[in-house]
Amino acid sequence: MPTARKHFDLSGSNVAARASMLAEDDGVTRRSLLRTSGVAVVSSAVGAIIGGCSRPSTAIAGDAPPPIKLPRLLASTESETHEIEAPLPPEQRLGFAIVGLGRLSIEQILPAFAQTKLCRPVALVSGHRGKAEQVASRYGVAPKQIYDYQSFERLADNEQVQAVYIVLPNSMHAEYSERASKAGKHVLCEKPMAVSSAECQRMIEAAKSAGKKLMIAYRLQYEPHHRRLIALSRSGALGKLKGLLASNGQNQGDPQQWRLKRALAGGGALPDVGIYCLNAARYLTGEEPILVSALTHSTPNDPRFSEVEEQIDFSLQFPSGFTASCTSSYGMHNSKMLRLHGERGWAQMSPAFPYQGLSLEVSTKHPDSEAEVVEQLKIPPKDHFALELDHFARCIMTGREPHTPGQEGLQDVKLIEALYQSAKERRVVELPAVAGSDPFRGPAPG
Ligand code: NAD
Repeated sequence: MPTARKHFDLSGSNVAARASMLAEDDGVTRRSLLRTSGVAVVSSAVGAIIGGCSRPSTAIAGDAPPPIKLPRLLASTESETHEIEAPLPPEQRLGFAIVGLGRLSIEQILPAFAQTKLCRPVALVSGHRGKAEQVASRYGVAPKQIYDYQSFERLADNEQVQAVYIVLPNSMHAEYSERASKAGKHVLCEKPMAVSSAECQRMIEAAKSAGKKLMIAYRLQYEPHHRRLIALSRSGALGKLKGLLASNGQNQGDPQQWRLKRALAGGGALPDVGIYCLNAARYLTGEEPILVSALTHSTPNDPRFSEVEEQIDFSLQFPSGFTASCTSSYGMHNSKMLRLHGERGWAQMSPAFPYQGLSLEVSTKHPDSEAEVVEQLKIPPKDHFALELDHFARCIMTGREPHTPGQEGLQDVKLIEALYQSAKERRVVELPAVAGSDPFRGPAPG
């Protein structure tokens, strides 16, 4: 069977070619689509079939500044460049306090604010005053806006802080999330939501009683490659979904780090990196698993793995029969990939989970021939954290439910508990069926 390998730039005229490729899979023949619709409708068909990434609305509480209009440069045969969503003036943006100034905050989250349209960092919470002052000076945060863990409650009096982003070791998420809700702040909390489902429940209750929002920072559910893959898998373009093969592994160093301490991390590879495979299996299908099983392994006498598992291999079975087979490890060279299998095609991302360099490849049968066509989709990269932050701000400004609320984080933690139970008891664990599609998610971003 011949295999054609193509590179599609979906931002330009190749949109029509990609639409024709996948239109039939969506129940619309390529010829009728081209004949009856013209390019404008073909483009919207792509949006419906594989796009799923419409630009976010600029209507924030009705007073977003209009984009600055520039004269057209290209001929009318070419696509018009997209208007860039106008950023809000700094004083109108949502003010965040960042709690915990470790690797993720310093290397990813704080730099990402420069790419947000609706957010700004206004306060820092850290146990290290000197480090916090250094960081504050780089991001225009005033020294009086630095708090420590003991003075955290004083955030309640700080009107510039509307939301708190919790970027602490996993076992501290629940405490600081609850304290932030009680201080009257919206909470964005890093994954995993907490180290037990009981803690997750408390976080949800605290936000609810305070009348504030709680979102779990699942950055990939806002990222364009993953959004495109979600749209593709849900469109039927791959046929009935059969399974997922996913792996997220890395080689941990320092045996003293909190990630290897059970009390601080709640587990090993699974809650830290395996959670990406687990969460992807759920958001790609919209279903919730009913059967789970897991095997764990730790290299004997390796000081890194005296408290938590090195590796976990796990399976999830969903009501439709879709089965995810996942590997997560703290003892392997970076391996971060997924492949989604459908009856009539597959899609794969390798890498799938890092902050940069994501790649999405799709294989389907050409509608007019027997050829298998493998396409590398060209999707402009975006900062994952900026997208997630702006989504959260938009939800607060418009009163919308976040796409990844506390319930979404709770479900992953419940599944992590079931997977550990399976590994411990060496048996398949059955879970109650959850009806509906995306039962724990708010409206899709965009
Ligand atoms: P880190 O170790 O680099 O930073 C943790 C911060 O917490 C440090 O500033 C540390 O001083 C502070 N801290 C306060 N009390 C502590 C204690 N008792 N022990 C250890 N540190 C303490 O960790 P990180 O990589 O920034 O991870 C923070 C959170 O972010 C974790 O929940 C992690 O799962 C999550 N994370 C998410 C992503 C993602 O892609 N979304 C990536 C990395 C980490």
